[in-house]
Amino acid sequence: MRVLICGGGVAGLTLAYWLRRRGFEPVVVERASHGRLGGYGIDFFGTGYDVATRMGIIDRLAPHQLPVDSVDFVDASGKATARLTNELLAKVIQGPHLGLMHSGLEGALLDVVQDDVEIRYGDTVIAVRDTAAAVEVDFAGGDTEAFDLLVGADGIHSVTRGLVFGPEAEFARYLGCHLASYAVPDRYDLGRIRAHYTEPGRQAVVYPTGRTGELIALLLFKAPYGGSVPRGRRLDLLRATFDGMGWITPSLLADAPSGEAVFMDTMTQIVMPTWHHGRVALIGDACGCMTMVSAQGVSMAMAGAYILAEALHTQGDHARAFRSYEERMRREVTRRQRNALFFARSLVPGTRTGLIAQNLISRLIMRDAFAPVLRRQFGVGTILPPQDAITAIDFRRD
Ligand SMILES: Cc1cc2nc3c(=O)[nH]c(=O)nc-3n(C[C@H](O)[C@H](O)[C@H](O)COP(=O)(O)OP(=O)(O)OC[C@H]3O[C@@H](n4cnc5c(N)ncnc54)[C@H](O)[C@@H]3O)c2cc1C
Repeated sequence: MRVLICGGGVAGLTLAYWLRRRGFEPVVVERASHGRLGGYGIDFFGTGYDVATRMGIIDRLAPHQLPVDSVDFVDASGKATARLTNELLAKVIQGPHLGLMHSGLEGALLDVVQDDVEIRYGDTVIAVRDTAAAVEVDFAGGDTEAFDLLVGADGIHSVTRGLVFGPEAEFARYLGCHLASYAVPDRYDLGRIRAHYTEPGRQAVVYPTGRTGELIALLLFKAPYGGSVPRGRRLDLLRATFDGMGWITPSLLADAPSGEAVFMDTMTQIVMPTWHHGRVALIGDACGCMTMVSAQGVSMAMAGAYILAEALHTQGDHARAFRSYEERMRREVTRRQRNALFFARSLVPGTRTGLIAQNLISRLIMRDAFAPVLRRQFGVGTILPPQDAITAIDFRRD
């Protein structure tokens, strides 16, 4: 069975791996001209870690661990006012955790997929026709081809979703914040920390990438929904928004690369009534983006890919498999979206009073006593059944 996967990110590459393992013939079409570089840091644990273990790639990931021992919430002088240490994080997660660059995870996935799976870089899907027997796809490169199934793994701004399910605006839930991220030279000697500095309506975060002399700057700011910001306007927007901000922010802005190299997006969740239609299904951020606040987007993207591949393998029929996949994943994604929605409200307080309250709560909550509460709240354990129980228990039911 030939399956076209639109998008060669975390979800798409994980799906390609598991489909190949189960005897399918996946083909990946990726818009970028090569694997993506740079990017941003991610916390990787729970379900994502479990899927990666089942893929045998932990050894490839471990050397890329970011050199971060704690998350420090600092004041304008750089002094920590609250601290989330790795020890406390371990008590919350109660399992293995890696801090990675997103591109490092994609690279490890690519390593175990590229020899067995056809990946077409620099192309995309521009039209989809679902006939009873197949799904016909027109590519931007000019070709038309029929596949048995199409899976959209093309992220929050999924083109597959737009072509088959409807425009993004129908499914977008904006959380009131924009985010921007880029690499800067390390001239601050902050050590092995991820530092957060917040003023009303805006927050600056820096952390080391593990490459000598390099940090990532992450800037979060409240803004009315305005859609995507063109690359040429990104730096001006950042300079205007962060003008006059304390701590090392002016220097982070002065060191920003050209707007072309600045990652910027709105903090938006994707909420859809259904994740599949005929011979087309969506996985990862394309159907269930939770935003960075959940810190589990990668986990749910990999879980969705894994569960969809297992469902297709065991169910035989794609319609039943799509239903089974969605039924299993939706409740997990919905729960994490709800949590992220709640925490996003206080992520960047809009007022000085809100900021004082946030500081107090941070200090209170960063203690061992709150570890079980945080663990329950975030649902940080793996959602996968034991590997040897999957075929028997999970997918034989309709
Ligand atoms: C700043 C930030 C911090 C985050 N922190 C965390 C964290 O700590 N932990 C965590 O688990 N998650 C985190 N996330 C979320 C996580 O990165 C996403 O949930 C995850 O990457 C989703 O994977 P995906 O494969 O669905 O989408 P993506 O990673 O977006 O991949 C989509 C792929 O599709 C390609 N594509 C897009 N359009 C097309 C097209 N038209 N045709 C072909 N290909 C296309 C893209 O080039 C890309 O390769 C964070 C996100 C951000 C922005």
